[in-house]
Amino acid sequence: MDRPRNIVILTGAGISAESGIRTFRAADGLWEDHRVEDVATPEAYVRDPGLVHRFYDARRARLGEVEPNAAHAALARLDAQWPGELLIVTQNVDDLHERAGAKRLLHMHGELNSGWCLACDERFSWDGPMGPGAACPACAKVGSVRPDIVWFGEMPYEMERIEAALRDAELFVSIGTSGAVYPAAGFVQTAKYVGARTLEINLEPSQGSLLFDERRYGRATVEVPRWVDAMLASK
Ligand code: NAD
Repeated sequence: MDRPRNIVILTGAGISAESGIRTFRAADGLWEDHRVEDVATPEAYVRDPGLVHRFYDARRARLGEVEPNAAHAALARLDAQWPGELLIVTQNVDDLHERAGAKRLLHMHGELNSGWCLACDERFSWDGPMGPGAACPACAKVGSVRPDIVWFGEMPYEMERIEAALRDAELFVSIGTSGAVYPAAGFVQTAKYVGARTLEINLEPSQGSLLFDERRYGRATVEVPRWVDAMLASK
């Protein structure tokens, strides 16, 4: 195949694991000792907003203790130097891609550093704890600000832009994701449908591993810089 120009890269929790942010489905299926149903669904938020806020406040505080790793840095380098179209679509709610310098990036599952007011529908950057009693910086209403996170059962952000990028993709790369959460887990099928080459980089085969033309298994901090170096050498 000709050298690809247009690349879509999907990242998941595995790319941030070596920065010290725990993945989600590791071993016990819990995320930071909580069941997903208790902290990452709209129903959980209605049932116990205090618990949900404490969970995300702790995840947001953790961002101040971690740094981007060599895999985030390598993707930022590829973003800066790749002459063709490139889009990094992350499922991660951490800010490690942007802190590494990535620009062509979107957060399909929202961001820890963002808040969303259910009263006025504004979204705004958020630093520090939020808690159930936060005041909206836009409309000043108290108690209506929630974490700007796409919970299970909610629609991911920017799907039109992602699907447009996938339609034009010549290479689709999935990094550090278990392939268990849709619609992201279906991107590989869309990419294959339009004739893109597909590559998986992960610690172990994901649920959809057989859909990928090429598979590289190992730690993201080793495998991602190795792949990026080869891409940049070939450009
Ligand atoms: P996941 O936890 O389901 O899967 C992570 C994958 O990464 C696994 O297949 C695992 O084998 C692999 N992995 C673990 N360590 C790795 C390493 N060092 N190098 C390469 N691969 C490694 O994560 P997911 O597929 O992203 O889905 C989980 C959902 O939970 C997402 O929607 C995401 O929004 C959320 N989540 C986000 C974060 C974060 O923002 N960092 C962390 C946990 C969960």
